[in-house]
Amino acid sequence: MPLVNTVEMLKAARDGKYCVGAFNVVDYLSIEAVVKAAENRQSPAIIQASSGTIKRFGVKTLVEMTRTAAAKSTVPLSLHLDHGTDCKVLSEAIAAGFNSVMIDASAHPFEKNIEITAGVVREAHARGVSVEGEIGVVAGVEDDIVAAHDASLYTTPEQAIEFKEKTGIDFLAAAIGTAHGVYKVEPKLNIDTLRQIRAQTDYLLVVHGGTGLADCVVRELVEAGANKFNVSTMVKQVYNDALFEYISNNREEYNILKTLDYAFKSITAMLETYMVLLGSAGRA
Ligand SMILES: [Zn+2]
Repeated sequence: MPLVNTVEMLKAARDGKYCVGAFNVVDYLSIEAVVKAAENRQSPAIIQASSGTIKRFGVKTLVEMTRTAAAKSTVPLSLHLDHGTDCKVLSEAIAAGFNSVMIDASAHPFEKNIEITAGVVREAHARGVSVEGEIGVVAGVEDDIVAAHDASLYTTPEQAIEFKEKTGIDFLAAAIGTAHGVYKVEPKLNIDTLRQIRAQTDYLLVVHGGTGLADCVVRELVEAGANKFNVSTMVKQVYNDALFEYISNNREEYNILKTLDYAFKSITAMLETYMVLLGSAGRA
């Protein structure tokens, strides 16, 4: 199936009261793992590339790899740029065939964030590409984005609504206390913010920093109205650990295809667990 517009996938999730996993990929194997997991679970899924992955492969190659992997699939899949901060990279991704992009101008003051985000929305919408914007700061490290944990500002529903109305974004990442990377302390989440935005609007809502949240918390976020759930660190952890485990246990084995196959199966299994947890399994 050709890639679909992310916004259509998320509208279906909102109306069906489930959430779509957006999984960060680092190469073709991880792209294929998302496709395989989605196929196995008959689930929609979003394939995300961060600026680091884009630096490694370039936008055109990522689009080609994702289209190739998705062509064999029967479930809705899309390619999304995660945390775009560089207008040149955003423009390239929009022109190259990404189905959606995130403009992350959240490090700027509110009015500047609106101005930058609205500019990307105009450019992307002209090409039929949907846009995610972020208000407030999600703590942690995501490639070039570094935010101090104590500086993480919780978004208020009023700010979120003003931001969405003034920018015209298609989906909104609001800071509710989740963080990127590995949680070193139990996060203090403000899930009520999501509930309040959901009660007042039909916005498509995004949760960042999905790795490491307890299953019950993920379910609560979905019930509160989250429609897109980002998982990045977990993909990299499972990939790394699987390679390490296989190599450690098979020191005389030099057929790297076997090593990669072990990693592929490990990543696929983990992604399937998320698809079940998020309620997207069986919704394709
Ligand atoms: Zn993020």
